[in-house]
Amino acid sequence: MLKLKCPYCKVKYEQSKCTIEVVGFQLRGLDCLRCPECGDEIFTSEQMEVVEHKAREAGVWGTKIGLERTISRSGRRPVISVPTEYEKLGFKVGTKVRVYVEGDKLVLKRSTT
Ligand SMILES: [Zn+2]
Repeated sequence: MLKLKCPYCKVKYEQSKCTIEVVGFQLRGLDCLRCPECGDEIFTSEQMEVVEHKAREAGVWGTKIGLERTISRSGRRPVISVPTEYEKLGFKVGTKVRVYVEGDKLVLKRSTT
């Protein structure tokens, strides 16, 4: 069942406990998967639900953890940088996201794989 492999080391992730920091607030003892080679940590979608639940309980989820960003320009396109804190939440370089507008929100939703 655990077939996820680290894209960098090509070895299987192992069940582990992670700590994530969300804008200065630490959530500890979270079930996660860790690469035994490089230490890369990821969360499965089930584990992510637990993370989200705990973060919500702690009041550090949603708009409260939003960081201010200014839309800049790269070539002709407007671009926005993603805070590094969000990498552990599944939004790392190479992650496919669906981008859409919801009222006054610009939403980046992880594409389900
Ligand atoms: Zn690795």
